[in-house]
Amino acid sequence: MRVDDVSGMGTVAIHAGRWETAEHAHITPIFATSAYTFDSAEQGMNRFSGKEAGFTYSRFGNPTVAAAAQLIEALEAFNLKNERGEPLQVKALLHASGQAAMATMFLSNLSAGDAVLSGRSVYGGTYEFLQNLISRFGIRSRFADMRDLSNLADILSHDPTIKLVHLETPANPTMQCTDMEAVCKLAKQFNCLVTADNTFATPYLQQPFQYGVDFVFHSTTKFLNGHGSAIGGVLIGRDGELMNKRVTQTFKLLGSNSNPFDAFLLIQGVKTLAVRMDRHCSNALAVARFLSAHPAVAVVNYNGLPSHPDHAVSCKQMKQHGAVLSFELEGGYESAVRFIDKLRICVRAVSLGTVDTLVSHPASMSHAGMLRAEREAAGISDGLIRMSVGLEDISDLLSDLDQALL
Ligand SMILES: *Cc1c(COP(=O)(O)O)cnc(C)c1O
Repeated sequence: MRVDDVSGMGTVAIHAGRWETAEHAHITPIFATSAYTFDSAEQGMNRFSGKEAGFTYSRFGNPTVAAAAQLIEALEAFNLKNERGEPLQVKALLHASGQAAMATMFLSNLSAGDAVLSGRSVYGGTYEFLQNLISRFGIRSRFADMRDLSNLADILSHDPTIKLVHLETPANPTMQCTDMEAVCKLAKQFNCLVTADNTFATPYLQQPFQYGVDFVFHSTTKFLNGHGSAIGGVLIGRDGELMNKRVTQTFKLLGSNSNPFDAFLLIQGVKTLAVRMDRHCSNALAVARFLSAHPAVAVVNYNGLPSHPDHAVSCKQMKQHGAVLSFELEGGYESAVRFIDKLRICVRAVSLGTVDTLVSHPASMSHAGMLRAEREAAGISDGLIRMSVGLEDISDLLSDLDQALL
């Protein structure tokens, strides 16, 4: 299918990346093979040198994995144009996890002596990777509020070692939103690459390449897969040369490839992305409104509410506001624990983006590895509850919340 012929991303999600087989399989099969045969020594040599297209070894490429990567490329680039006004071409590499995609991105673009400037409110694993891991290899990490543009300009103008600006929007778990267009404009003045974690939005709600971002990554474990059946990640880049050379080399050497089984599950999940996201978002808005009107609830962080400080930015760059929110109860930590334990329909689990509603406690779970001061500066109090709103009938969700808040 030519994706530039269709008018909606829902169609792309269903049809893009289908793998044609000799047997005319309707559904892209699981190619469970580690290697691929060559008809002759010469063919093997030519495949390795790149003179001839074709697979060699599944750490480098596999048809099921390639089909899933092409599907993600079609979604992230859908209806976007490059600097010359032509359809944007992007390149995706499917990874074993979101963390692996993130690691490839940082490790292929930074060297000892360089620094990263990251948003403060980011996924716990991203924060720990920057704070505790790459610092051991001579790469410095700095953290700032990406919404304070004059502070960003100040930091970038005083630190020429910063080579890369990383943002997450909406950010986990406060749903802070960063104006990607403004950050990209500023970062380009200082020749910095800009990377965005698009896990919470998915390309259906937000396409960071539209605003000048250089790399996008996702944990496909979340909304893209949608069914909580596999861990996975994807790194997508707009510079084909950089992706095909340095990034692909890093990816192959780290061995962070996905596998055909998880790629298969991802393809099945993505097919329903559009209908799922519509329902996720409408349910989340209803839940956010219900919670903000409830006397037992002290604060609701949901970018879809006009009271959220980043509501305007969210409206500017997102089609709808996503389905993750967080909130605090009047009774603080003790009330939060009581509430979580009383839930009957919502499921107590980390992760997010699944068809069922998941509730977790960021300070002790996803963000437990952060320093307390950094965690509190990122808006993650001990009483904060995170909720990934699922696809249940809204009346059932609201009555479950209501009984648990009593
Ligand atoms: C889950 C998550 C990650 C990490 O992805 P894994 O698939 O668990 O490795 C990164 N960023 C965000 C925003 C996430 O929610």
